[in-house]
Amino acid sequence: MQRTVRVALTGSSGQIGYSILPRIAAGDVFGKDTKVILQLFEITPAMQALEGVVMELLDGAYPLLEDVKTSDNPEVAFDGANWALLIGSKPRSKGMERGDLIRENGPIFVGQGKAMAKAADDIRVLVVGNPANTNALIGMHNSDIPHERWHAMTRLDENRAKAQLAIKASVPVSKVTNMTIWGNHSATQYPDTENAQIDGKPAQDVISHIEWLQGEFITKVQKRGAEIIAARGLSSAASAANAAIDHVKSFESATPTGDWFSAAVPSDGSYGIDKGLLFSFPLRSDGNGNWEIVQGLPMSDFAKEKVEATKKELLEEKSVVSDLLG
Ligand code: NDP
Repeated sequence: MQRTVRVALTGSSGQIGYSILPRIAAGDVFGKDTKVILQLFEITPAMQALEGVVMELLDGAYPLLEDVKTSDNPEVAFDGANWALLIGSKPRSKGMERGDLIRENGPIFVGQGKAMAKAADDIRVLVVGNPANTNALIGMHNSDIPHERWHAMTRLDENRAKAQLAIKASVPVSKVTNMTIWGNHSATQYPDTENAQIDGKPAQDVISHIEWLQGEFITKVQKRGAEIIAARGLSSAASAANAAIDHVKSFESATPTGDWFSAAVPSDGSYGIDKGLLFSFPLRSDGNGNWEIVQGLPMSDFAKEKVEATKKELLEEKSVVSDLLG
C-alpha cells in the first residue's frame, strides 16, 4: 500500500514556505511513492495570503498531493502530523538585540510544543525559524515528544560550506563530504574543515591554504545570508527551503557509509557539550528514525576554541529563556 505522510508546516505563507511547499508536493522530500497531506499553519493575519499559496498548490495538480488543510490553530495543524517543519518566527526588527528576539519568539515555541499533543506517534520536528536552536530547545521542553525527535536546522550552513570548498578546490560539490557544522545556527557556528573530505581525501590536504580555511572560508559561510540579502534584496529562502528538504531526507534515509551530515539535536554530552543543549553535531541516521552522533573526531586547539565559543553562546541563549523550559 502506498504510504501517506502528513506534514505540518508553520510560516506557510512566508518566503521559505513558498519555496518548500511545491517541492514537498512534487515528491522531492518523501519520494515518488509517498502521498503527502499538507497541514498548513499560519497566524490569523496571514491566512488570506495562505489562501493564495493553497490555490497555487492546487493548480500544481501534483499527483502525490492528497490534501491541503489550513488552520490558524496549531493543535489542528499538528493533529496526526508525522513531520512538523517549524519555519514561522518573528523577524528581528530594527534595533532589536538577539536576546530580545529570543524572548519574542520563545512563547511561540512554548505554545507550539504543547500543541503537538495529538501529533502522530512517530512525529519529528525540524525548527528553521530563528533563533532556531533555542526555539527548538523551548519547544522540546514544552512537549511530550521524545527529545531526540527535536532538531534545528544547520543544513544550510553545511551546504554553504560544501559549496565554498568545492569552488576553492575546483571540484563538483558532490565530491565534498563529511562536513560538520558545530554548534549554533548563528555567527558563532563552526564549519569544520579538519574532518571534511574532498574526493575522499582530507580537505586540508587538498586545500592547503590554512589561513583561508581558518579565516575567509569560515567568515564567508557565517555571513553568506547577509551577502545574499545585499545582492538580491531578499533573503536566501530558496536555499533555506532546499536545506530543510535535505535535512528531512537525511533523517528519513540511511547515511551513506563513511559520511555524515549536520543538524542540531539534543546533546548527550558528546564532545563536552552540556547534555540537552540543542547543538549541531556530525550525525548518522539508520533510516528508521534513529540517529547517532559521530564519535571520536579529532579537534585542534583552534577547533576546540571555536566549539567552546558557540557552546558559550547557546548556554547564554538558554539562560535568557530558562523560565520557558518547563
Ligand atoms: P522566511 O520564510 O524568509 O523565514 C522564516 C524563518 O526562517 C525566519 O525566522 C528566518 O530567520 C528563518 N531562516 C532560517 N534560515 C534562513 C535563510 N537562509 N533565509 C531566510 N530565512 C531563514 O520569513 P518571512 O518573513 O517570509 O515569513 C515569516 C513567516 O513567519 C510568515 O509566514 C509569518 O506569518 C510567520 N510568523 C509566525 C509566527 C507564529 O507562528 N506565531 C509569528 C510571526 C511570524 P531570519 O528572520 O533570521 O531570516
